[in-house]
Amino acid sequence: MAEGMNFHVLTLFPEMIMQGVTTSITGRAMEQGTISVEAVNIRDFTKNKHRKVDDYTYGGGAGMLMQAQPVYDAYASVAEKIPSDRKKRVIYVTPQGTPFCQAMAEDLAKNDELIFLCGHYEGIDERVLEEVVTDYVSIGDYVLTGGELAAMVMIDAISRLVPGVLNNEESAETESFHGNLLEYPQYSRPKVWHDKEVPEVLLSGNTKNIRKWRLEQSIVRTKERRPDLYAKYEELQSCLEVLKKNKLNNIDMIELIQRGRAILIGRRGGSILLKDANSGVLFHYADDPKSGEELLQLYSEQRTAVVQQYGSQGRTQEVYLILHQQEMVSHAKEILGVEEIMSCYQKVYTRKESLPITGLYRLDGQPADSGLFIRKLGQAEENAVLSIYTGVDGASYVKKCLDHGNMYGAFFGDELAGIMGIHEDGSLGMLQVKPSFQGRKVAKALETYLINLVISWGWIPYGQVEEDNEISWRLQESLGLYTSKDKIYWMR
Ligand code: SAM
Repeated sequence: MAEGMNFHVLTLFPEMIMQGVTTSITGRAMEQGTISVEAVNIRDFTKNKHRKVDDYTYGGGAGMLMQAQPVYDAYASVAEKIPSDRKKRVIYVTPQGTPFCQAMAEDLAKNDELIFLCGHYEGIDERVLEEVVTDYVSIGDYVLTGGELAAMVMIDAISRLVPGVLNNEESAETESFHGNLLEYPQYSRPKVWHDKEVPEVLLSGNTKNIRKWRLEQSIVRTKERRPDLYAKYEELQSCLEVLKKNKLNNIDMIELIQRGRAILIGRRGGSILLKDANSGVLFHYADDPKSGEELLQLYSEQRTAVVQQYGSQGRTQEVYLILHQQEMVSHAKEILGVEEIMSCYQKVYTRKESLPITGLYRLDGQPADSGLFIRKLGQAEENAVLSIYTGVDGASYVKKCLDHGNMYGAFFGDELAGIMGIHEDGSLGMLQVKPSFQGRKVAKALETYLINLVISWGWIPYGQVEEDNEISWRLQESLGLYTSKDKIYWMR
């Protein structure tokens, strides 16, 4: 089994699955061990002496139905192998399911084990579906002869979101559907082909203009080809206008939208509830107490409906909610049963220019005169990282950030002197320096490095700092970060 994600496909045609997934990028990921795919033949579990797995449907009607027993036993053979601490979902691919989309792929990619159930003939006996399935998913409004192609489509889309599957991490970030926009047109060599020239701006080397042009093109393209998506984009843009009235206080929500990760759960007047498509964290802004409360109520109802439909299986993960108004804390406790875990100020780097790095570290990855160099940390460095980290987020969370490629380390020679990372919600944090290396500008170097990295992605760097964290507070002020007037409240 793989470290990253294990796919199990229950099917009558295992060879069809294996032929489909062992080529190209999924094949490479299987070889590297970042994902694994096993196809389990449902027919191997039939108790029928002719190896039959289907029978006539009660009540008449055309076609045969897959029987419950072989499907259930095939499922049980997989389920019993999976340790209880692995996050698991069981997906029946069916034209009657929720339509598959990029946001769903992102959600499913956060699991450890995905079991796909592929139907054939007229489908599968309802009783076994009721017992094992957590999610019903369709790949589109048409009817296929079997679920194998649907499972392969989903495995392909999900596995490319598993950390380590794509070489260039950026490529999954800028693609179609991020931020409800389709991707801009792209060009490769030669400069002129069939008398058609590559747009001038792409040859200019001016990254700011290129980014602007690409956004404009994305907008035009989405408006033309997918007016439904464009409507969602516009809705979030109007939320941005409200949030930008208080940039420092709302920077986390503003950045969530600008980084293309926001899902709008609801809006009441000027009050807004967003969900981070990556981490599932909820962000709540109340323009006035009444509409703020209505949004919490709305979320509570949506959640109840989900649990009623699917049961709590696979959906028992903790809910994190960030409130932007103190008066909402008691309402959230009452309506959602969440508790306050901390309150912080937002620290925002508002300038467009990067910070000077002179003497702190070098861009070519070589050690600076002080001997310090910074690079991204890998899973193999888990022990070194955990020997430094003592913060509030806990070891398993930091390990997760490491797995997702979001932790950076400052080194002197082979020794890790300090760490810092990008949180699941997009803020900077987890900065810590080994006591024996304090006083050697490690923290300043790491903070500068990460701020400049985030700027290079076209984002606004920000972090969240508790009131009593004086060291962090002073460092951030010395680097020119501004502090929000009010606090935000993390609820769980
Ligand atoms: N009688 C079923 C119905 O109307 O819902 C359709 C059965 S279909 C012929 C056989 C199998 O193909 C289904 O059990 C399902 O696993 C798969 N399948 C067909 N269309 C699909 C779609 N659009 N998305 C996902 N799976 C699909």
